[in-house]
Amino acid sequence: CIVLPAVFPASPSDKMSSNLVKDLSCPVCHDIFKEPVVLSCSHSFCNDCLQRWWTEKLIHTCPLCKEITLLNDPTHNLVALQ
Ligand SMILES: [Zn+2]
Ligand SMILES: [Zn+2]
Repeated sequence: CIVLPAVFPASPSDKMSSNLVKDLSCPVCHDIFKEPVVLSCSHSFCNDCLQRWWTEKLIHTCPLCKEITLLNDPTHNLVALQ
């Protein structure tokens, strides 16, 4: 599933930095990832955002695509992001 956050500047002169920020920013808080984690649907979120999202949910779903998801080992995902 490909779901991108809809909020980022479309200015052409900022294109490269926008892409960079988009790749590094969390769809929940729209900020640069803190402790990024990757779900089984391959969407990424801050660990904090995910935990906050999941405290309100009975089942663990992806905040973006709503897939029921599994959190893989965070240490493994940190390595995979680099
Ligand atoms: Zn976040
Ligand atoms: Zn997802």
